[in-house]
Amino acid sequence: MSLDCGRKPEHPEETHANSTQTEDHPCIAWSGLSRKIPVLVFHAETVVSKGGEFRDIGERYNLAFKIVRTESRLVRSILSSHGFHEVHPNSNDFNLMWTGIHLKPYLLRGLQDFQKVNHFPRSYELTRKDRLYKNIQRMQQVHGFKRFHIIPQSFILPSEYQEFCSSCAKDKGPWIIKPVASSRGRGIYLVSSPNQIPMDENILVSRYINNPLLIDDFKFDVRLYVLVTSYEPLIIYLYEEGLARFATVKYDHAAKNIKNQFMHLTNYSVNKKSSDYVSCDDPEVEDYGNKWSMSAMLRYLKQEGKDTALLMGQVEDLVIKAVLSAEQQIATACKMYVPHRNNCFELYGFDVLIDSNLKPWLLEVNLSPSLACDAPLDLKIKASMISDMFSLVGEFCPFRTPWARSTEYVGAAQHPLSLRIKNGLRYWCCLPCIAPLRSAVKATLSSFPLQLKVLRKIKEENERRGGFIRIFPTPETWELYSGYLEYKTSMNCMLATRLFPERAVAQTWCSVCPQELVVRFLKRAASNLQQDLRVALPSRRLPLADRRRILSHQLGDLVSLSQETEQMVKKMERLAEEERCVNPDVFQEFVEEASESDLEEVLTFYTHKNKSASVFLGTGCTNAKSGVASSGRTSQRTVEGTSRQGERDSDALRLLGIREKKVCNGKGWLPFSTLPPCVFIQCAMPWVRC
Ligand code: ADP
Repeated sequence: MSLDCGRKPEHPEETHANSTQTEDHPCIAWSGLSRKIPVLVFHAETVVSKGGEFRDIGERYNLAFKIVRTESRLVRSILSSHGFHEVHPNSNDFNLMWTGIHLKPYLLRGLQDFQKVNHFPRSYELTRKDRLYKNIQRMQQVHGFKRFHIIPQSFILPSEYQEFCSSCAKDKGPWIIKPVASSRGRGIYLVSSPNQIPMDENILVSRYINNPLLIDDFKFDVRLYVLVTSYEPLIIYLYEEGLARFATVKYDHAAKNIKNQFMHLTNYSVNKKSSDYVSCDDPEVEDYGNKWSMSAMLRYLKQEGKDTALLMGQVEDLVIKAVLSAEQQIATACKMYVPHRNNCFELYGFDVLIDSNLKPWLLEVNLSPSLACDAPLDLKIKASMISDMFSLVGEFCPFRTPWARSTEYVGAAQHPLSLRIKNGLRYWCCLPCIAPLRSAVKATLSSFPLQLKVLRKIKEENERRGGFIRIFPTPETWELYSGYLEYKTSMNCMLATRLFPERAVAQTWCSVCPQELVVRFLKRAASNLQQDLRVALPSRRLPLADRRRILSHQLGDLVSLSQETEQMVKKMERLAEEERCVNPDVFQEFVEEASESDLEEVLTFYTHKNKSASVFLGTGCTNAKSGVASSGRTSQRTVEGTSRQGERDSDALRLLGIREKKVCNGKGWLPFSTLPPCVFIQCAMPWVRC
């Protein structure tokens, strides 16, 4: 593993000197373009070998962690044995926060670029049983029931009581009742008739899979470890090893046994209470007692003639689809709350039940999968998994660039080029409430091109993956699942295009049709004008030059009619005079150099600050015409009518369609919806003219 060591070394030169001493250290791998950035590699054996040979690395770089509201001896032990020191849960001086709970937005917002936490915001979209079910149900509705038939049919009661009753008429049960936000088998029981279900609590009722695959007549389920290092682009790893957990009483689905938890539930927390629970003291024996390694279970099934390759393929399918079902919500929450791209990672515990037809069913996703090591096999699997995870997610980077250290932005007024304002772009530069935008633009300007950085990070992550297998994206899974991505960003597309160019180009949403986009923009902008402006896509039968001419005319009409734009321009000029704007030259430079995702980042940042993206569409004007073309109006209504900022922002971003629409600024392709009308027009002209 590695950790981003942003806790600055007191003497940077010292760090360089130290780096030469660490060249051959077993805990150091080298990353970065010129392979000069040390990355900390974690070794699972440090948990048992009490020697201090690995401690000096963490100590040398002054690495720190804190553990908040969870008890994880294993994590503490691995970090400490690599020289990390533990700080108080209230301290902000840490590289890694390991927590058992969801983080509050203000804590996430306070993270610095070198700090990591083990949860993404809004991960409960996956880990709460009711949310998972709702998300999968939505995917079933959008993409077809069969494609997302990965969880047993479920209902949330009391709200879906009617649906449940009609389902009961066809399916006699039994049903399994679960509290919506619980774990370890707590509060779970089976019923054979709907009359036995209480109606006064929020519960999830699922069809009970009564034909589980059995080994030696015992029911079992599988715990898989899934690591997500980023939701944008989406990167999913599956650990090569997992655990099979067995019930303690032989399976018999006769109604008289319905209350026997030791037969129907496979949770360790439930079955360890049984006098029949058998544990194994030898870590090398992986297929004895009530807990096996997943690989031992697969070997057993293979010997029994089962197609385990097919099974694992279906398991991967289920994992990817489940993560995809929550991808948009979590990615949006990251944009809103997480200040730096690499702050979050998450290890999920997926519980999967295999039925006698060898079909895997997703039972639930655990927020903080148990890292308890009650048996030697637990320690063997979990210590390796956690070490590999830390090696994979981190970027241990003590060499900070001088620029990054001096993060203060030199205000526009002090910039030597601040007076050279270029037409058009200044308007964008001078958007109201721009102050926070300055630093965002500056940060993006100063950084190594973001897309290349992301690409490099992902390639390097993969080199340090240990026992983790990247299951999305791969050439095959990109082709199969990218169509389900709801948060369709250029990052996802860029990654696939660079990693496997021959496959990625097939995806339609990567490409753009500039003429249609220009018209869509025009329609949107026109809906906010006082006067009517007819906008139409020139017929494809016309010669290209004619189509361009028609579009140019329409753009010209928009400019001349756009009083709102003029008002906005005047307002911006006032702001410019007050020097509350980004330096236009800096911004011009930024627009020319920026990638689509850089612009998108700035837009998102701006959207957060202003709690709306409407200004980009011109919908922010109070005198916007009502009842005209739909898109602008819908955007306005959605933006204002939604009480929750998250939904509001994501709706606004979705309506902006920023990932699909691009416009040529003469030098490259930009997502035009990140720009207000006047800038858009300026940017669009070279394309229309060319
Ligand atoms: P918890 O989070 O409390 O562990 P789970 O959803 O994992 O809840 O369910 C606990 C156990 O109940 C599972 O390990 C499995 O053995 C059994 N189980 C849960 N749902 C089903 C189902 N639909 N069909 C059959 N068995 C189930």
